[in-house]
Amino acid sequence: MRLFTLLAAGLCLAGLPALAQPRSAGTPDPKLIEDLVVANRVLADLGVLDGFGHVSVRHDKDANRYLMSRSMAPALVKADDVLEYDLDSVAVDAKGQALFLERFIHGEIYKARPDVRAVVHSHSPSVIPFGVSRTRLQPIYHMSSFMGVDVPVFEIRDVAGPASDLWCATPRSAPRWPRCWATRPSF
Ligand SMILES: [Zn+2]
Repeated sequence: MRLFTLLAAGLCLAGLPALAQPRSAGTPDPKLIEDLVVANRVLADLGVLDGFGHVSVRHDKDANRYLMSRSMAPALVKADDVLEYDLDSVAVDAKGQALFLERFIHGEIYKARPDVRAVVHSHSPSVIPFGVSRTRLQPIYHMSSFMGVDVPVFEIRDVAGPASDLWCATPRSAPRWPRCWATRPSF
C-alpha cells in the first residue's frame, strides 16, 4: 500500500534546534512575504492546510534560500513570523522559536527541483486517499494538465520500515540517515 504523497503526511509542528546558522541572502521583496502570508491564510481558509500544514516560497534574492513561517498554525501567520532557511532547512535566524519538524521536505524539494518556486505540505483529506490506496490520482481533463500524466507516490515503508512515525524530519545529507527520505525521491 502506498503511504503518502507530497501532500500528505503526519504531524509536523514540533521543532528541532537549528545547527550552524547560514548567512542571509538579504531582505526578500516585501511583496513576496505578503504573498506567502496570504498563501498561508487562503490555504487555511480553503481547508487545504490544517493547523499543522505549511507553505514556503523560494527566496527572490537567492535560489539557495527559501522562506517559511516558524512553527505555527497557517491561519495565524503574519509577516513577522516568516523566517529564511537554507536548503538544508537551517534557519538563518530562528529567533529562539520552534521550527517545523518537517521543514526538510521543503528544502529537499528545492534542491531536487530548481524550477520549483513554492512548496505546500498538506494533510488534505481530498488528497490523502490517493496516497494510501491503489487508486491513482490522475488528470482527466485539460484543467488538470498541470499534474502531468501521473502523480508519484512516495512509499515511506520502503525507507523507514513498516512502523515509522511518517515524519520526514531530517535532511537527506544527515549522518544518521533520515527516517523517511528515499535514495531516489519519486517527486
Ligand atoms: Zn505533516
